[in-house]
Amino acid sequence: MSSQGTQVSNASFDIVKLIDTIDFAARKHSFQRRKDSAKTPYINHPIGVAKNLTDAGVYDLVTIQAAILHDTVEDTKTTFEEIEQNFGREVKNIVAECTDDKTLEKEEIKRLQIEHTPHLSKQAKEVKLADKLYNLKDIKRDVPTGWSKERVQEYYIWAKKVTDGARGINQKLEEQLDEIYANGIFVLQGEEYKCHP
Ligand code: NDP
Ligand code: ZN
Repeated sequence: MSSQGTQVSNASFDIVKLIDTIDFAARKHSFQRRKDSAKTPYINHPIGVAKNLTDAGVYDLVTIQAAILHDTVEDTKTTFEEIEQNFGREVKNIVAECTDDKTLEKEEIKRLQIEHTPHLSKQAKEVKLADKLYNLKDIKRDVPTGWSKERVQEYYIWAKKVTDGARGINQKLEEQLDEIYANGIFVLQGEEYKCHP
């Protein structure tokens, strides 16, 4: 096979893996919705997290696959074994690093994210930054149904503590997060939300 042929077949192989990953996540999240007023299909979130990464110059396929799958085990009946069987150990390991133990109290889950993030792999930190960036932008776009101003502020403060633990790996993601944290205040439907950490 010519070198060009090899390149094409490698690229095709990556496209197949990417589409398989999106298809898997879409099927797993198919009954879930986001917490916004439009009840947006949940799959928009993992795809958007992966887009935050490619927009920030992260093109590593394993990291992108992990971003697309990052909420499957946490929020659906998917198992780590399934992820490993379908997408390999590397992808599974990153997904595992980004998965909370839902058997714990919510406060404890939040505390552990702050504690664990500085010790994650580079790939998991990238997914973490892209995930929080997506959620913060989502809240700013349309505050989740039933959330008080205090709850929005709590989320911003917590997200900053988590993302502070993943600094030094991707300047573009950090700059976007810094802009959100620095502005601190946003107005939505005539209401002023103060979110200065
Ligand atoms: P969160 O309050 O942390 O909910 C936010 C999570 O929901 C995000 O991290 C995101 O996770 C997901 N999500 C889904 N849709 C959206 C959306 N449209 N915008 C942003 N994020 C979205 O989780 P819990 O519901 O588990 O709440 C627990 C915590 O909330 C408690 O620990 C407490 O601190 C706080 N709380 C505060 C209250 C208050 O009034 N002050 C009241 C109740 C709780 P993902 O990336 O996984 O999709
Ligand atoms: Zn997420």
